[in-house]
Amino acid sequence: MTSALGAAGELAIRSLIERAPLASSLAEAFKKAGYRLALVGGPVRDAILGRLGNDLDFTTDARPEATKKILKNWAENVWDTGIAFGTVAAKRGDTTVEVTTYRTEVYEIDSRKPEVEFGDHIEGDLSRRDFTVNAMALELTQGTPIFIDPFNGLHDLANKILRTPTSATNSFSDDPLRMMRAARFASQLNFEVAPDVVEAMKSMASRISIISAERVRDELVKLLMSQNPRVGITMLVDVGLAEIVLPEIPKLQLEIDEHHHHKDVYEHSLTVLEQAIALEGRLGGPNLIIRLAALLHDIGKPKTRSLIAGGGVSFHHHEVVGGRLTKERLKALRFSSETIEEVSTLVSLHLRFHGYGEGEWTDSAVRRYVRDAGSLLEHLHVLTRADCTTRNKRKADALAATYQSLEDRIKVLMEQEELSKIRPDLDGGQVMRLLNVKPSSAVGDALDFLLELRLENGPLGAERAEEELMKWWATRAKN
Ligand code: ATP
Ligand code: MG
Repeated sequence: MTSALGAAGELAIRSLIERAPLASSLAEAFKKAGYRLALVGGPVRDAILGRLGNDLDFTTDARPEATKKILKNWAENVWDTGIAFGTVAAKRGDTTVEVTTYRTEVYEIDSRKPEVEFGDHIEGDLSRRDFTVNAMALELTQGTPIFIDPFNGLHDLANKILRTPTSATNSFSDDPLRMMRAARFASQLNFEVAPDVVEAMKSMASRISIISAERVRDELVKLLMSQNPRVGITMLVDVGLAEIVLPEIPKLQLEIDEHHHHKDVYEHSLTVLEQAIALEGRLGGPNLIIRLAALLHDIGKPKTRSLIAGGGVSFHHHEVVGGRLTKERLKALRFSSETIEEVSTLVSLHLRFHGYGEGEWTDSAVRRYVRDAGSLLEHLHVLTRADCTTRNKRKADALAATYQSLEDRIKVLMEQEELSKIRPDLDGGQVMRLLNVKPSSAVGDALDFLLELRLENGPLGAERAEEELMKWWATRAKN
């Protein structure tokens, strides 16, 4: 290992090799076949940061067909959906590996299709990567591991800064998606973006429009699912990328004039997103649906805003308009129809609770709330609670308490409904046949008796129920 790596780096690389014995075994297989193999990009970066996951990316001088052959002998599962771009993927145990042939990937101007050229040197491959912290490699087929870092990625990693290996403007004209990736990594890693990179993003933002919606969506999802999405969203808005990929968000920056006072909807939305994330434990962990709904819940406001004479402002039916805009935007970004449906349902329901007042809803209004939320009830609880950003603590506490009372009522009603679904073990027809009686109050009494028995003991089964019914009938006849 080169000493330039420094003690911390060496320690990280050693721990990586220990934690990823599969990497060594794969390297062995490539070496035997006469090829080179290096761990590259994300896993090298993440190992040094101490956040290595189960995905390992490699780069090799082997051409894709040769890679596929080697992987087929090594892994349990091999797939080559990315083979046109030089990537073959495989799974062994719970580790997924992606092996990509060294490449020099150039985009034709204004084309969505990357033109792939394979290269012969790892340095060339690294120079085409997005950021210096993603352009480090660990060569594994030459005796001892060799750390390769031609662009000082380790230094930038230590300083938590995103820089491009070559000039930012060249890099972004090769692949404008890298601008989205800058915002995504800034969010995910909590890194700064170098000033020249930010400048290039500002001047080249419009170039993002040549990128397919699917690639943009994938980066947006990663950004949104990161620990601190505010960082990335703010950056997308500030450099002008959001205006193209998610224009509803910058539009939330409504001018606030002193006569028609209202809260800053943009800032409010970011806070609601953060508050929803804080409540995600209720949904079992990080959840894309709630994050999208929180971010988008007020996008109907700019369109529905009307200034009230003499002061004040209203946003009539903004949840309805918002639900529609949400559908349109998520569709344009090629989200699944299930995601579109769920997020837009939440957006259009986010205001419903405001009609609850101090708890004036009838039971049937509560039931309708539950029915309309359907499988998204818990999401709606989280969204509605997160949607309170007042700094007035007394107001906030009061609202939380009122919402709690709604949740409590829902619980009671659901329990009652469960109970009301319970039926005796025998039905009226069976009772009449067994007792040999015509429809009469005796049948009702028998069913009441059976229901009591059922509530007391749980399900009895037909045979026991018959026995108990006959015993009851006999004692009743005596009295
Ligand atoms: P993660 O997988 O955790 O999201 P990652 O860094 O592995 O992060 P990937 O999208 O999996 O990101 O890409 C793998 C590697 O490929 C990156 O680390 C980077 O070196 C390179 N890379 C990916 N996309 C691009 C791109 N658009 N332009 C240049 N290099 C890229
Ligand atoms: Mg990866």
